[in-house]
Amino acid sequence: MINPRLEEAINKQINAELYSAYLYLSMAAYFEDANLPGFANWMRVQFEEEQFHGMRFLNYLVERGGRVKLEAIEKPRFEWNSVLEVFEETLEHEKHVTALINNIADIAEEEKDRATRNLLIWFIDEQVEEEGAAEKIINELKMIGGEGHGMLMLDREFAARTFVPPVI
Ligand code: MG
Repeated sequence: MINPRLEEAINKQINAELYSAYLYLSMAAYFEDANLPGFANWMRVQFEEEQFHGMRFLNYLVERGGRVKLEAIEKPRFEWNSVLEVFEETLEHEKHVTALINNIADIAEEEKDRATRNLLIWFIDEQVEEEGAAEKIINELKMIGGEGHGMLMLDREFAARTFVPPVI
């Protein structure tokens, strides 16, 4: 049986990951509307990744004998002013998720729950990748000024991204 504090924190994290999925799906829809199908594809892959994160926490809670408690998923933002703004929000959002995961890691340390600590190592590494990917795109968008030939090139590049379920 998992510690009640960790059960509550992991349930909140399931909601946070599913909200992330919902936010990225809304960003994908924004890009579809802006005639940027490659950017939309990039966000659709994010959507799948975030669902995977949510399910990984959910399955872990089940495995540890915890009770999954689903809450309402917050309505995501609908409109953005630019492509750059979308990725700046992505970076800020991922920093927020990193803080949530670090907080669960702190609770796992306090409660001496080594299994949860081990699970979180994967997520902590994943957050480094998530923040790094958003930062890289922000830098590229700033370099090309968010328009013209550079945007077309990035859109083509992002069209090739696919979701590959991580081997864990
Ligand atoms: Mg995530």
